[in-house]
Amino acid sequence: MKVTVVGAGAVGATVADNIARKELCEELVLLDIKEGVAEGKALDMTQTAALLNFDTRIIGSTNDYAKTAGSDVVVITSGLPRKPGMTREELIGVNAGIVRGVAQNILEHSPEAIFIIVSNPMDTMTYLTLQATGLPKERIIGMGGALDSARFKCYLALELGCSPADLNAVVVGGHGDTTMIPLIRQATWNSVPVTNFLSEEKQKEIVQNTMVGGATLTKLLGTSAWYAPGAAGAAMVEAIVRDEKKLITCSVKLEGEYGQNDICLGVPVILGKKGWEKILDFQLNADEQALFAKSADAVRSMNNVLQTV
Ligand code: NAD
Repeated sequence: MKVTVVGAGAVGATVADNIARKELCEELVLLDIKEGVAEGKALDMTQTAALLNFDTRIIGSTNDYAKTAGSDVVVITSGLPRKPGMTREELIGVNAGIVRGVAQNILEHSPEAIFIIVSNPMDTMTYLTLQATGLPKERIIGMGGALDSARFKCYLALELGCSPADLNAVVVGGHGDTTMIPLIRQATWNSVPVTNFLSEEKQKEIVQNTMVGGATLTKLLGTSAWYAPGAAGAAMVEAIVRDEKKLITCSVKLEGEYGQNDICLGVPVILGKKGWEKILDFQLNADEQALFAKSADAVRSMNNVLQTV
């Protein structure tokens, strides 16, 4: 197996670090446009191998796509992160050009690759990658729900005083502060609805904290977060390379599912060696379905901006 991570910044390097520690592939390429950064981080990570006990070979590359040739999975993290007060959507102008160029370069050298898109605004960047590459929809997957659902579980676990591993909770819809939908009605603690244990007020607070989970960190850190985004990206790589058939919420092309067409949006999918293999119908109630439609409208208007950048 060969995996490439494009963008050796905070998120890309953390994705790569998680991939190496878990030995998800034999060869891992880290590529960045900034001279020397990818090589430096690749070498630094390689020097942890003796301490952490892994054998994945990590190669750094300054914009040399020949080194990425024959990748099975590619994670695209290149692009600007948001600064405090910015929305993910404000990044579209710069990041569209970066993601489009990167996707085309990758495709030239790895025509069989499965793409995981991390760069923001992620749902629109996923849609853009689908258009720019013309690849089958199963091979273009946006990372948002994996992270947002982990944040949702984090806030639930803190309130319930339980292990996040005992929770099932997903976030669907767009990957934006106002467009994501934490499905609290369907969240369970070892199969018991979490709503049995939480007041309405607490439920609202947890949903709200989840929705602004990224912005909260951006305010604290001065840039966007990386540990959880990096772990979320690597978890998706793991599900694919190990053919786990794991249910993870991802942004994928919808063709009628959840009442939407011609858009990439977060829905529960099965991830395996072919990419996303199946969309699950979580049977949203009328209120949740209305939120999903509103989320789709917002992402669609963002997608329309692509024609102008
Ligand atoms: P960062 O600035 O630390 O790293 C970005 C890297 O991309 C830099 O090293 C930069 O040199 C590189 N880059 C820029 N243009 C490039 C190009 N054309 N080719 C190759 N490399 C290029 O930023 P970060 O914190 O790692 O965030 C990266 C992206 O991921 C941002 O758009 C951010 O908003 C997004 N993000 C998404 C999620 C998510 O859940 N989907 C979570 C966190 C961050």
